[in-house]
Amino acid sequence: NRPRPRYRRILLKLSGEALMGRKPYGIDWHVLETYAREIRQVVELGVAVGIVIGGGNIFRGVQNASRGMKRAHADYMGMLATMINAMALQDALEQAGLDTRLQSSIKMEQIAEPFIRRRAIRHLEKGRVVIFGAGTGNPYFTTDTAAALRALEIEAEVLLKGTRVDGVYSADPERDPNARLFTTIHGREVIQRDLRVMDMTAFTLCREAGLPIIVFNMNKPGNLLRVVCGEPVGTLVYW
Ligand code: UDP
Repeated sequence: NRPRPRYRRILLKLSGEALMGRKPYGIDWHVLETYAREIRQVVELGVAVGIVIGGGNIFRGVQNASRGMKRAHADYMGMLATMINAMALQDALEQAGLDTRLQSSIKMEQIAEPFIRRRAIRHLEKGRVVIFGAGTGNPYFTTDTAAALRALEIEAEVLLKGTRVDGVYSADPERDPNARLFTTIHGREVIQRDLRVMDMTAFTLCREAGLPIIVFNMNKPGNLLRVVCGEPVGTLVYW
């Protein structure tokens, strides 16, 4: 009696920081293993899964640029950081028994395919999980923007932003006891209330394409599956 998925093709964005688990930096292998199991659950339902992963646990461009390094240079280093995470995730997914392909926005022929949209779609059709590494391949962008862009390119029905919090709140829940969690919210209201769901470049891409975003807690077991089955988990941003 398998649950029925609400979405057939998804783009999952995972932040680099989430991979740290309780560690101060780097990758917590236990977190990776857990994520791999969660992802396998939805692949087994026949859902096509594309993944964009961040690099904040290893290197973040803006922070280092503030120390005098050229921003573009720092950003390229940030993109390489996402590749380390992408390779770690790829290994975890394969150890969990999934078929995967890694596509990079910066050419790295020995370790990843170059990003080719049609090829990515072909992989998805064959049931392979496709990880998109190296962000958009351009400095001054974020992996959230890469996630929005790839989601549109692969014609995902939804962008799932897996985080460490339960969704979008009216205020910072760690500081304001009255902060409430939205179950759904219009994108316009996100902007009016200045709620930070994603950066504006990523958000604008989603808005223009009418792509819904679901922000949810990736660290709660079963949550990804519930989201994919259309259960009201996290916050749905609609247009
Ligand atoms: N980055 C970039 N262009 C992109 C995606 C990422 O220059 O298209 C760089 C940027 O420096 C960023 C770093 O890669 O700080 C890591 O990505 P991000 O901060 O988005 O990762 P997350 O916050 O999700 O861990």
